[in-house]
Amino acid sequence: MCSTKYLEVDEMKEAETIIWKMIQKTSFRTVNEERLRNLRTFIDPSGVFRIKTQLLMRKDFENFKYSILLSSDHIAVQKMIMHKHKSLSHCGIQTLMSILREVFRIIRKAIKTCTVFKRFEAKCP
Ligand SMILES: [Zn+2]
Repeated sequence: MCSTKYLEVDEMKEAETIIWKMIQKTSFRTVNEERLRNLRTFIDPSGVFRIKTQLLMRKDFENFKYSILLSSDHIAVQKMIMHKHKSLSHCGIQTLMSILREVFRIIRKAIKTCTVFKRFEAKCP
């Protein structure tokens, strides 16, 4: 049982892992499926689908070397993208994706954005 009011870093990490696995379970069946074929996908020891990136030689965070695989058609992924977009002052899609790419590899279908974002995109093609 947790003795403190707030989550410890380890507990937070564990909770995140459970969330990624739940999301991935509804988005992907195996690492061998067609759309993952060229992505060098593997399942890490905790059961999370990850991608081996080109940056393995760099001494970056674990997440950057082995990005967490997500699909943009999942509602929780869309919410996470939107939250990040808003927290970055409604930044453009290029900025948003490059920041998200530090941790995630998001297979894109369509990324829904807010009205402010759409207006911004229309002004800056
Ligand atoms: Zn926006």
